Amino acid sequence: MSDTTATPPPSHATRAGNYFISNYPPFSFWSEENAAAVEEAYATPHAGTPPALGLYHHIPFCRKRCHFCYFRVYTDKNADQIKHYLDSTIRELEMMARKPLIAGRRPHFIYFGGGTPSYLSATQLVDLTDKMKALLPWDAAEEVAFECEPGTLNPGKLTAIKDIGVTRLSLGIENFDDRILEINGRAHRTKEVYRAYERIRAEGFEQVNIDLIAGMLEETEDNWQVNIAKTLELAPDSVTIYQMEVPYNTGIYKDMKASGSLVAPIADWETKRRWVKEAFAELEANGYTISSGYTAVKNPESTKFLYRDSLWGGADLLGLGVASFSHAKGVHYQNLTEIEDYDAAIAAGRMPIKRALKTTEEERMIREFILQMKLGRVKAAYFRDKFGIDVLERFAAPLAQIQSEGLLNIEDSAIVLTRDGLLCVDNLLHDFFLPHHHTDKIV
Ligand code: SF4
Repeated sequence: MSDTTATPPPSHATRAGNYFISNYPPFSFWSEENAAAVEEAYATPHAGTPPALGLYHHIPFCRKRCHFCYFRVYTDKNADQIKHYLDSTIRELEMMARKPLIAGRRPHFIYFGGGTPSYLSATQLVDLTDKMKALLPWDAAEEVAFECEPGTLNPGKLTAIKDIGVTRLSLGIENFDDRILEINGRAHRTKEVYRAYERIRAEGFEQVNIDLIAGMLEETEDNWQVNIAKTLELAPDSVTIYQMEVPYNTGIYKDMKASGSLVAPIADWETKRRWVKEAFAELEANGYTISSGYTAVKNPESTKFLYRDSLWGGADLLGLGVASFSHAKGVHYQNLTEIEDYDAAIAAGRMPIKRALKTTEEERMIREFILQMKLGRVKAAYFRDKFGIDVLERFAAPLAQIQSEGLLNIEDSAIVLTRDGLLCVDNLLHDFFLPHHHTDKIV
């Protein structure tokens, strides 16, 4: 138990909880009771032209659980169990592809996330994607994104990843220091990063992204500068940098709880923001463009993030697999979060729904608004055309407040975040929530 009499932590200290906002309304408002709304959404096609359709496939397997990980992952499954899981996801897709909402549509973007998609063998990957394509062809897919852990890649697997049609390969480097990787529980080491990166480039993927985390356990000022320099040396097409957060289901939080500490043993928010700011400035000085609060791209004309931009613009997303998230005709839902429960539901021919929420038009407008804020620029015209709402008027009070703090400006009917605003964007979004959705900020 934590000591409630301890001195409260300084306001910028990293405390436990979720900082990153990935959806709206908040997950705490989704419930099991709303599952019927999901069936309803799939029972009829869209009236009029449907939005873009995306496919997400969750591969919940990893070599090792990182201490900061809060995803549903398994590190103990054998080849038979993995095969059984992949078969279940195919049965799920079979069931979903027949639903009136999906039948006859083609996915515009496909995303393999996890966990570690690259944990699968080349044979498993080819078999899985052949079956997926037979059920819902990929001929209209403009983007196929695939997350990789450096230590799981070998030349044969990379060729398979390229051959199945992956356009963006995302490499989870996180840090270039072996000691920091080890302390944070990562399975890979720097040697594997360089070996993998060379092979990735040799395969000629359209887009290679690398992920970094600012503020891992034991990160230092000097080492962060080394991370920036080594990133520039690799010259990826895009770089994604997350600021380390410590949700409750992480190993780091368990240690904090055991020692009675209210503050995570990592850099505070001010430091993490400054580190990302420095990285962004260096990347810009080397020709990159900042395209969101987390991403820098080398060539904004050709380097797209269709998955992100489509979802933030209200696309339908069909999520397959344990714990995956979906959005179908205005209904949010998440699949069952234990692999055994998920498999059992699929075997029984039931949709494996854990929790759901049918959104209102107003909630969908707010959702798109806050997600698009993460891009650093929100055009009022988009919301006028799509929702008939003047967001500058509707959100006049919070916008004025945030502007007075120097975190945004209004330019030509667009809301433009300053660099400091962009670096703390997740913290600003609560101000646009409906009053009954307000939850605690952790910063
Ligand atoms: S590799 Fe990613 S998904 Fe797997 S344990 Fe680490 S953070 Fe979690």
